[in-house]
Amino acid sequence: MTKTKASNAQDAKSVAQPTLNPGDDAPRGTTGTGEDVCPDCNGKGRIDGAPCATCGGSGTVVKAIGGA
Ligand SMILES: [Zn+2]
Repeated sequence: MTKTKASNAQDAKSVAQPTLNPGDDAPRGTTGTGEDVCPDCNGKGRIDGAPCATCGGSGTVVKAIGGA
């Protein structure tokens, strides 16, 4: 009898890796954070025709809320 349930559960846990842009404080959807306009490209997602590296071209970054 071989049971593989335990190892399968561990695999599922490590699969999802959130994508963080340099301007992000936390992965999108994290409690206590919200999207804000990227300060480098002002929400355009591009700087001089090239994708903004800070926000990954999305025009928004994830910032922590409530810290003031
Ligand atoms: Zn940007």
